[in-house]
Amino acid sequence: MKVVLIGVGQAGGKITQALAEFDYDMGFDAVKGALAVNTARPDLSELDIDTQLIGQDRVKGHGVGGDNELGAEIMQESATEVMDNLDGRLTTEAEAIVVVAGLGGGTGSGGAPMLTRELQRIYNIPVYVLGVLPGRDEGGLYQANAGRSVKTCAREADSLVLIDNDGWKASGDSLEAGFERINDAIAQRIGLLFASGEAVEGVGESVVDSSEIINTLKGGGIASVGYAAAESSEDPGENVNTITSVTRNALLTSMSLPDAIDAERGLLVIAGHPERISRKGVERARKWMEEETGSLEVRGGDFPIDSGKLASLVVLGGVERSERVQEFMDRAREAEQEKNKEIDPMEGLENDGLDDLM
Ligand code: GDP
Repeated sequence: MKVVLIGVGQAGGKITQALAEFDYDMGFDAVKGALAVNTARPDLSELDIDTQLIGQDRVKGHGVGGDNELGAEIMQESATEVMDNLDGRLTTEAEAIVVVAGLGGGTGSGGAPMLTRELQRIYNIPVYVLGVLPGRDEGGLYQANAGRSVKTCAREADSLVLIDNDGWKASGDSLEAGFERINDAIAQRIGLLFASGEAVEGVGESVVDSSEIINTLKGGGIASVGYAAAESSEDPGENVNTITSVTRNALLTSMSLPDAIDAERGLLVIAGHPERISRKGVERARKWMEEETGSLEVRGGDFPIDSGKLASLVVLGGVERSERVQEFMDRAREAEQEKNKEIDPMEGLENDGLDDLM
């Protein structure tokens, strides 16, 4: 699936760059353009991709300091400029636009849903948000910001693909090292997903294509991805169990939203050497995924690559009812109420409607 990426805010820019680099290094050519937009000049100057500073008249290049309402306002005022800048990059080749942002901050949290809404008005290809949820130990402001942003992104985007910052970090990592590891993991998994929808030499009927990704990531709501790989045998008959076990690992231990496996739709992509992929294995793994997710709509397909390993890339669509998402929304709601209490004790107990989504 050919995509154009727009990173909003600091995390958005860094992850967009990681995705563009992975796609380039692997020679996939699925990323047709990458732009980073921010209100903070120093964050942009660290990036090698194209950048655009917005809101200079409001915050003078200093960022919005976690104020996601200001982030949304600035994006609204700058949407035309950003669209103009994008026009040249959005070739007819692009099959989807992906807005990338950390949802706990200010610029990305407020700006991503606003930009998504504008993009949806203008373009008739799907617009996805790839959003990062703050970890549990990040402060209340981050949780509250992300709660609001999750709700608006899930409403505005064709799908909000969520990455939980607690999911892919390793214990003992410093914050910076942790971000780097998470960003690399995002680049690999999401990068493979984009590339898997591309026509490759030796195409067979079972090769996954863009329409299957688009049909899994549709109808709004929240999506997640997972990935696992293992060495394979040259004999496909011996790889039946390898395919089912990497799929189990991907779904049960590596999802970007851990423990959120009740889904409306699913996609299972098996990447590996075409001669090593066992059809029986793929079909078994797909059926198992249907049982595990409670979805009757799990698509399956191959991604032929020249590798001695077999990998399973799992995409789940419509996971918003799962416990993990509910738990996060509760955390965000509490943080929102705490914040409101500080400003106006009378408003502190009001429910701001975060559960509209559920
Ligand atoms: P913004 O520039 O105002 O949009 O704010 P940030 O992008 O810094 O967003 C803050 C949120 O993103 C927090 O929840 C951070 O934990 C998270 N974050 C910041 N940088 C990174 C990063 O490089 N990778 C990841 N995965 N998360 C990040």
